[in-house]
Amino acid sequence: MPATYANPRYPVAPTPAGPERHPVVIAGAGLVGLTLALDLARHGLPVLVLDEDDTVSFGSRAICFAKRTLEIFDRLGIGAACLEKGVTWQTGRVFVRDREAYAFDLLPETGHRCPAFVNLQQYYAEEWLVEACRAAGVAIRWKHRIAGLTRDAARTTLAIETPDGAYALDAEWLIACDGVRSTIRRALDLPFEGRTFRDHFLIADVVLKNPSEMPPQRWFWFDPPFHPGWSALRHKQPDGVWRLDFQLGWDADPEAEKHPDKVIPRVRAMLGEGVEFELEWVSIYTFRCRRMDRFRHGRVIFAGDAAHQVSPFGARGGNGGVQDADNLAWKLAFVLGGRAPEALLDSYDAERGPAAEENILNSTRTADFVTPRSDAARAYRDAVLALAERHEFARPLVNSGRLSRPATYGASPLNGPPGWDGGAGPGAPAPDAPVLRDGRPDWLLRHLGDGFRLLVFDTPDPALAARLPAGVSLVFVSAEETPGALWDHAGLAAARFAAPRGAAALIRPDQHVAARFRAPDPAAIAAAFDIALGRRP
Ligand SMILES: Cc1cc2nc3c(=O)[nH]c(=O)nc-3n(C[C@H](O)[C@H](O)[C@H](O)COP(=O)(O)OP(=O)(O)OC[C@H]3O[C@@H](n4cnc5c(N)ncnc54)[C@H](O)[C@@H]3O)c2cc1C
Repeated sequence: MPATYANPRYPVAPTPAGPERHPVVIAGAGLVGLTLALDLARHGLPVLVLDEDDTVSFGSRAICFAKRTLEIFDRLGIGAACLEKGVTWQTGRVFVRDREAYAFDLLPETGHRCPAFVNLQQYYAEEWLVEACRAAGVAIRWKHRIAGLTRDAARTTLAIETPDGAYALDAEWLIACDGVRSTIRRALDLPFEGRTFRDHFLIADVVLKNPSEMPPQRWFWFDPPFHPGWSALRHKQPDGVWRLDFQLGWDADPEAEKHPDKVIPRVRAMLGEGVEFELEWVSIYTFRCRRMDRFRHGRVIFAGDAAHQVSPFGARGGNGGVQDADNLAWKLAFVLGGRAPEALLDSYDAERGPAAEENILNSTRTADFVTPRSDAARAYRDAVLALAERHEFARPLVNSGRLSRPATYGASPLNGPPGWDGGAGPGAPAPDAPVLRDGRPDWLLRHLGDGFRLLVFDTPDPALAARLPAGVSLVFVSAEETPGALWDHAGLAAARFAAPRGAAALIRPDQHVAARFRAPDPAAIAAAFDIALGRRP
């Protein structure tokens, strides 16, 4: 049990007395299931979540939460807590042997509410999601394990086991967020294919006894003097905890390597003799990169690790899963609310499939660089590292983890006209920008999301609202201080969309751009709205 965090234990839900039928059941109250449940509840859907455990995630798992995830969490109401507790960082430094090869800045430009990354233990994010879910009326049944299922076109019948006995319930829609060993994926006998990497990594989370001078930066070493021949990584977390990661190779004995007698000398070698620490958590992991072919199987839909798995390099697992939830929630809400055809849900596959592919590609390339699989690959890696120490051109070739970036759904069937070249176009997540509202500092993204918005780069036009399709609300962003508009005082909102004055952008409930128009023409906006809801082929 980690010393700095005590896992909450949630009360076991009673077993229901009679038959039940629920419109949406989410399997798994992990990072992704909880995010999805909260989003659905905010859209007004009754949601039931089932989890086999009675607590949030245990020990060392995700720590790097990316900007886009933080923006999604901000939309859902837990962003401020993450920013306050998390350790903000944006600088990565790469060392080769005993010399720094180069450093990189993940977010060189200012004017965003959320930083490139915060480091935060996964259990904190999950605990806050549980609290927010409860406040939003989500029913979570802890210690209700899904043991099996049967299904027809209209429903899935789940066999559930609890400490008080077994029961069954019907789900009209089942969202499988039950993690990498997904019971639901197995019960439906759906393939989950990809690569296994022959390597072992040691995670040692340590608490430094004295306040640390070590900066909150990601440090990655290739072949460091304290761990010759292998790679190593360090990251700062809240509560004075540091995540140290040591590559051990395939031949390492995982059980022996977890023993403090082996771990402590490794940690001491990395931190230096004078640094006092306590071990908080030790684990050994291996990893795989794999995915399901399709994430939607009729009325059973997969998200997060249940649908795709990546290595921890690049912090793409949890961040990608949260974006799955962000993508799926509004679509499900619109379909179940009768505002969009069921076909809208096919766009979840069309958008999140390529996103998973991109994450797997990046994760695999990093793994291949960190653990070369052939003599030729090793020779290439060593040549790149040697060159990177002295030559700028070689530095982008060093791959210690291409860190999670938001997916752009450039080829989405939901995209409407781009309007113009440059800036955030259809499929891209809307960029944030500082604005002033009634003279007070604010952020653009706070005014987007949850529903469809038409972002108009102009002073307010009171007549426009009545000419828009029902369900689209207006947000005016003006270059001048104008009542009823957000004041784009630094010009960054318009610049990031490359929007000419008078132009407009239709933004989806997940804050992705659907379409752009040189002028807010109501007929063109209505057509784009239909496309974004999957109402047009
Ligand atoms: C060492 C390590 C470091 C990582 N670092 C990062 C990082 O820095 N950033 C990042 O983004 N990602 C990281 N990840 C990945 C991240 O932890 C996962 O991608 C994330 O937890 C996936 O969330 P999930 O909700 O899909 O699955 P899970 O978190 O696995 O949740 C699944 C849930 O389903 C429940 N469940 C399972 N089976 C059943 C059943 N039959 N019935 C009912 N409930 C069930 C489980 O109890 C659990 O609560 C890391 C992973 C590891 C291992």
